[in-house]
Amino acid sequence: MRAESVRGMRDVLPDESQLWRRLEREIHRTCGLYAYREIRPPLVELAELFARGVGEGTDIVHKEMYVFPDRKGLQLALRPEATASVVRAYIEHGLHSRGDLAKLYYLGPMFRYEKPQRGRQRQFHQYGVEALGSLDPALDAEVIDLAAELVSSLGLSRERLTMRLNSIGCSADRPVYRAALAAYLREHLEDLCTDCRRRVGENPMRVLDCKRPGCREVAATAPHSAHHLCKDCAQHYGEVKAYLDTLGLAFHEDYTLVRGLDYYTRTVFELCSAELGAQDALLGGGRYDDLVELLGGSSTPAVGFAGGLERLVLLVKEREGTESEEELDVCLLPVGDDPRVRGATVKILRELRSSGRSADMEYMDRSLRKAMQVAARRAQWAVVLGSTELDQGQATVRHLASGRESRLPLESLASAEGWPR
Ligand code: AMP
Repeated sequence: MRAESVRGMRDVLPDESQLWRRLEREIHRTCGLYAYREIRPPLVELAELFARGVGEGTDIVHKEMYVFPDRKGLQLALRPEATASVVRAYIEHGLHSRGDLAKLYYLGPMFRYEKPQRGRQRQFHQYGVEALGSLDPALDAEVIDLAAELVSSLGLSRERLTMRLNSIGCSADRPVYRAALAAYLREHLEDLCTDCRRRVGENPMRVLDCKRPGCREVAATAPHSAHHLCKDCAQHYGEVKAYLDTLGLAFHEDYTLVRGLDYYTRTVFELCSAELGAQDALLGGGRYDDLVELLGGSSTPAVGFAGGLERLVLLVKEREGTESEEELDVCLLPVGDDPRVRGATVKILRELRSSGRSADMEYMDRSLRKAMQVAARRAQWAVVLGSTELDQGQATVRHLASGRESRLPLESLASAEGWPR
């Protein structure tokens, strides 16, 4: 057997996980500021949940979902996204019956059998928010604002980012728009790729999503969903844009934005970065006013978004480089072959850790010179312990950056005053 991870599923190694933790902390903090509470749905759900929720005809369900039977033959799926799970949990636990808006967020791994490339993997991580229970366009704006705030709190400059916005209307608008779009696309069949020719009959809005140059050209002059909105949807869209203006959030209306999941209604948006290359979407979302009912709950309007952590990591890493090694407080360096030394080192190590100082000792039997070099890269302080130190009950604590030293009592090293700086 080769020690090799599964294609598209990568390890986050310690040097990088420090950055991951920072991003995760920022996500928890920002969601908290906007009054969203964390939900942690399981990674495995009934496959049917996504078939119904995300849509049988979508690439995500049709081509990319990991589906497997359990031992009783029940069809299960590794979740390809979390909105359907959050809605399932919302219905199952009667979160709606509390009579208030449910504002939830999540963070965790998702699975899609896609072709791996930069910014696209088979196991990837999404963070996302879902607000269930209100049609208020201010809520659409809040969700977009949260996304923008998160990204700028990570120091990513807004100039390199574009917020694409569109409205695809409600379920009553959709058939009218689809028919207009399909009629237009039929006039341009010869310019479309083979996939898109098939899509014209099945799901013409997907053609607008296609990245091939010929299809993009056709899409550029296609009828706009935002011009086929009923009165209520048009008003809603207008108000969302007005709130975004009030919040000073720049956006670009993009009539080809339809998103790859079936459940969206009205507002759809995507935040893209010029620095990400082909997979340029940092996050995306929108309204899904029919999904709760579709999955068996009572009619409940909702809005949310999901973003990819890997893509955030890529951008932050490009901006800042990889983080330095995690810093330890103390490194203990036992020397000599006095049998008492290692026991004393282990004991002091324990005391330091109990007092809240991160600490480690030299386990690799390196020379003192070498061990000191390693300590200098890892820790703030080094303490050499040998029989002389034990006899005297004192040791020299060295501040590695400044070279300053202090003699401190071994008995109470952890709590001693006067650590050098
Ligand atoms: P979606 O659920 O398809 O709307 O995707 C929302 C966001 O998740 C995208 O904007 C990406 O940032 C991220 N994402 C989706 N699929 C992948 C993937 N296969 N690998 C990495 N990130 C992804």
